[in-house]
Amino acid sequence: MTAVPSSGSSALTDTFGRRHTYLRISLTERCNLRCTYCMPADGVDLLPRHHLLSFEEIIRLSRLFAALGVSKIRLTGGEPLVRKDVSALAAALARLPGIETLAMTTNGLLLDRHLDLLCAAGLRIVNISLDTLRADRFLTITRRSGLEQVIRSVDLALNAGLDAVKMNCVVMRGVNDDELVDFARFAADRDIEIRFIEYMPFGGNGWQNKTFVPYPEMIRVLQEAFPGMHPTSDDPHATAKTWRIPGFTGELGFITSMSEHFCGGCNRIRLMADGNLKVCLFGRGEVSLRDAMRDGASDDELTALIDAAINGKKASHAGMEALAIQDNRPMIRIGG
Ligand code: SAM
Ligand code: SF4
Repeated sequence: MTAVPSSGSSALTDTFGRRHTYLRISLTERCNLRCTYCMPADGVDLLPRHHLLSFEEIIRLSRLFAALGVSKIRLTGGEPLVRKDVSALAAALARLPGIETLAMTTNGLLLDRHLDLLCAAGLRIVNISLDTLRADRFLTITRRSGLEQVIRSVDLALNAGLDAVKMNCVVMRGVNDDELVDFARFAADRDIEIRFIEYMPFGGNGWQNKTFVPYPEMIRVLQEAFPGMHPTSDDPHATAKTWRIPGFTGELGFITSMSEHFCGGCNRIRLMADGNLKVCLFGRGEVSLRDAMRDGASDDELTALIDAAINGKKASHAGMEALAIQDNRPMIRIGG
C-alpha cells in the first residue's frame, strides 16, 4: 500500500477553498423506525449485506480521510445502532490519528443498551432525533411507538458526561409545527440544544411547499412565547443559528438549509453505507470508493478519486424548488 498525503493535504479542499474536515458515515440503510419525511411509504430495497462496507473497509477509508485532514466523524444511518459492530467501530474510529471528535445521530430507541460502551469508546456528541413530544403523534410520524424510550435516552445521554447532547426536530406544517414552544420548554432545565431543522425535499419523502416552515416563521412563533429570546451565534457559516431564552439551561438551534443555506462554509462529506462518497447532501454526484477498494485501488488511487469528487463540488445547492423535483436518494439512504 502506498503512502498517503499528510494531514492538511489539498485533496479535501475544493475549488472554492472549502476544507472538508467533517466526515459523516452512514453505517446501515436499515432502521427500526419509518419516519414519513425520511423513509418512502413503500420502504427502500435493502442492499445485500456484501454491498455494504465492512468494518475493515470503513476503518481503512476513515484512516485515509483522517490522514487527508478529516478531524470529526459522525456516525449515522439508517439507524446506526442497529448495526451490530457499532461500538467496536466507534472505538476503532475514535482511536484513528487525527480524529478529534466522534459524534452520532440516532433515533435513540436503542441508545440505553449502547451508551456506556459508546462513551467508553470515545463518543463525545450525540444528536437524538425526536419530532414530537406527543405519543399519538410519534406513532403517526415514525409509524412505530417508542416516545417514552426516546425521552429516557435523552435523559440518560445528558447524564453520561458527553460534550454535547442535541435533539433534532424536523419542523413540518400541519404535522408538528404547533409544538415549537413545547420543544423549547424541554430545554428549560436540560443542558441540551434543541435543533429545529427545516424540512428538506428528498426522494419519496412527501415534501410539499406548504409543509415547509421557514426559519423566520419559527422565530416569530417562539418570540411571541419567549419575548426575551435572543440570537447567540456569531459564525455566519455555522450550520445552526443558535438562540437563548433567558433563564433556560439549554439553547435552541435552527438548521436553515433551505431558507438560508450555509453552503459557503460547508466542510462536510458523506460516506454512505454502500461505500459511495457524496460531496453534497443535495448533489447527485457520487463515486464508489467501495468498488475502487475491491478492485485493488491503492490509497493514492483512492485519494485521486476523492480529490476529483471534491473538485466537482458546486458552490451551493440548487434551491428548494429545484431540489423538490430533482432526483436524489431517499434520506434514509444518505444519513442526514
Ligand atoms: N436514524 C437516525 C436518526 O433518525 O437520528 C440517523 C439517520 S437520520 C436520516 C439523520 C437525521 O436526518 C435525523 O435527525 C432526521 O430527522 C433528519 N432528516 C431525515 N429526513 C429529513 C428531511 N426530509 N428533512 C430534514 N431532516 C431530515
Ligand atoms: Fe429512521 Fe432516522 Fe430516517 Fe427516522 S429519520 S426513518 S429514525 S433513519
